[in-house]
Amino acid sequence: MIARTFHKVIEFIFPPACPVCGAPVSVHGELCADCFGAFEWIDDPKCPRCGYPLVYDAGPNAQCPVCAAGEFDLEWLRSACRYEEMSRSVVLPFKHGGRIKHARFMSRAMMWALRDVDCDFDIVMPVPLATARLRHRSYNQATLLARPIADVMGVVLDVDSVHRIHRPDMGHLTSKQRHENIRGVFSVVNPDKVKGRKILLVDDVYTSGATLSELRRVLMRAGAKSVCGVTFCRVVRTV
Ligand SMILES: [Zn+2]
Ligand SMILES: [Zn+2]
Repeated sequence: MIARTFHKVIEFIFPPACPVCGAPVSVHGELCADCFGAFEWIDDPKCPRCGYPLVYDAGPNAQCPVCAAGEFDLEWLRSACRYEEMSRSVVLPFKHGGRIKHARFMSRAMMWALRDVDCDFDIVMPVPLATARLRHRSYNQATLLARPIADVMGVVLDVDSVHRIHRPDMGHLTSKQRHENIRGVFSVVNPDKVKGRKILLVDDVYTSGATLSELRRVLMRAGAKSVCGVTFCRVVRTV
C-alpha cells in the first residue's frame, strides 16, 4: 500500500513522458504513438538467418543473397528497426550523449525482434568497449541494452570474458577496411566461461557486420558452441 502511494506520488511529480519527444504517455519508458510510428520496424518477410528485410515473402527458408552465398557467419541476427533518420536521432545521443533512459524501450524492441528465434542461450554478451573508451564515456551502451534482455531470459550477463583493445573510430572506413581494422582487437580472457556455451551478442547498431563477425571468430576459437546476435537497428543496404 505504501509502495503504491509512493509510486503515485512519483508519477505526480514525474509524469510518464515519451523518452524521445517528452509527450505524455501512460507508462514510464514507453514511446508515444507518433514516435513509435516514426521508426521503420523490421517485420516479416525477412531473411530467417540474418534478419535482412525482404521485399516479398518467398517462403520460410528463402534467404537473402548474402546468406545464400554463405557470406554471413553468425548463427543468426535480429534487429528491431532500420538505421534511418529516427533511429539515428535516438542512437547517437544514447551512445555519446548520456541519454541512457532510451535503453528501456530499445531493449524491449530488441526482445520483440527475437520473437521468432530459439532463445536458449547460456550467455548474453554486450559487445565490449575498449577500457580507454569506457572510461571516457563512463558506460557501455551495449551493456545497458544487454542487461534487461539477460534479466528477462534469466541467463548470465557476461561483461568480462572478452577484452577489447582501442583502435581509432571506424566511421569513415569502407566495409572491407572495417573488417581489416577490427581484426585482432578482441581477446577471450575467460575461455572457461564461454567454452561450450550458446552466446547472444548485443549491440546498438549493425553496420557492416565487421564487429560481430570478429567477436564471433574469437569466441568460436575459444570453444563457444554457437554465436548469434541482436541489435537495436541495422543499416539496410540493397543487396
Ligand atoms: Zn514521442
Ligand atoms: Zn540473410
